[in-house]
Amino acid sequence: MKAKSPLEIYKLLPKTNCMKCGTTCMGFATNLIQRKQKLDECPYLDEKARKKIAELIEPNIKEIEFDGLVVGGEEVLFRHELTFFNKPPFLIKANEQNYEEVVKEVKSYKKIYIGKELKLDGILLEFKGDKDKFLRALKEIDLSLAIVAPPNVLKSALEVRRTAIGYATVENYEDFLEVAKAYEVPVMIKSNDLRELKFLAEKFRGEGVKYVINPVLDRISSCYDRVIKIRVNGIKGDRDFAYPIMVEIDFDDVFYSAMASMTFVCRYADLMVFREVNPLVLMPSIVLRENIYTDPRVPVAVESGLYKIGNPNGNAPVFVTTNFMLTYYTVKTDLESAGIDCYLLVIDTGGICVGASVASGRFNANAVKEALDKFKVEERVKHRKLIIPGLASRLKGAIEDATGWEVLVGPVDSSAIKDWLEKVWS
Ligand code: SF4
Repeated sequence: MKAKSPLEIYKLLPKTNCMKCGTTCMGFATNLIQRKQKLDECPYLDEKARKKIAELIEPNIKEIEFDGLVVGGEEVLFRHELTFFNKPPFLIKANEQNYEEVVKEVKSYKKIYIGKELKLDGILLEFKGDKDKFLRALKEIDLSLAIVAPPNVLKSALEVRRTAIGYATVENYEDFLEVAKAYEVPVMIKSNDLRELKFLAEKFRGEGVKYVINPVLDRISSCYDRVIKIRVNGIKGDRDFAYPIMVEIDFDDVFYSAMASMTFVCRYADLMVFREVNPLVLMPSIVLRENIYTDPRVPVAVESGLYKIGNPNGNAPVFVTTNFMLTYYTVKTDLESAGIDCYLLVIDTGGICVGASVASGRFNANAVKEALDKFKVEERVKHRKLIIPGLASRLKGAIEDATGWEVLVGPVDSSAIKDWLEKVWS
């Protein structure tokens, strides 16, 4: 990152701590670096300071927005060095002949993964020769999209919809430059030759036009080599290559497609285009993307609260667990598959699992009491019994003292709850 310390930014802020941005000037400086707030949230910056701060917080790889999508904006080569910020949008190819069907498929595709609905992001609309239909498709598609069309069609297309255009090559780049400058849209530049990509990047950057680099996925190994060189150079300060990379997966072989897709989700696609909605390719890729683009500095957590499982009544058992996402979904799934109507009281342990949060003290008697009070559990059940996880057994006495509720110690493994409950709960 260019700005190593919030102090560099703090020096340029008004330093009045007026809290108009919701925090202090130092807090705002820190949040800017962590991309938790935007520069516009401080209304007291003069132009000079704004420009300087914008330069300091600008990511190593340019962040480019078009038609509701954000691509690039990365800072590091390896996630563990900081985090990756913007998941590569997944676009599916369509054209003016088949777009209605493809749009339906894109909208209906979803993968449920630890409670989240993972979805596709839009369409790459390719021109196949019918201009009227193409322009109609641009009007009708209500998903984010990018356009691939010849320069003579692009002006009409951009009158309908402003978005990224492609593909600019060494043969046609002058036409693309003219259109991109006139309509202020980013361009997808394409070649399987690094020297050509460098040439194109220099031309577009020199004219102040933003671009996304497509190094052509012909074979995984050769494309991988180009992608790595572009990204490593971009992060190290090659300004022509400090732009987002896109990868287009377009093979007949489904397994080769899946392998390619997962390779470039890991390294370093900022935008991915797929030939079709094929779950065999998309499912592993979308799950992998979800994992790689979580912030390693933040534990994966769910909201604390009182969750209903099935149809609990006043006699239903109340189970306690932590808000570590994997724990929550494991316990919830085990309770649901056992057909147990109950309440699940999820306490805030900062997204830490049961064993670690008991050991660190974040899972404690006061946290349980606070959750009981906050979520008004006594109004939901007639009894006064809590079931805590087996790994929290040593807190039984402390929780009983703090809450006045009887505490039952459940099994260590939530898959054993059904048999355990039949013995202790009548
Ligand atoms: Fe400081 Fe600006 Fe935030 Fe006020 S709004 S606290 S001046 S950063």
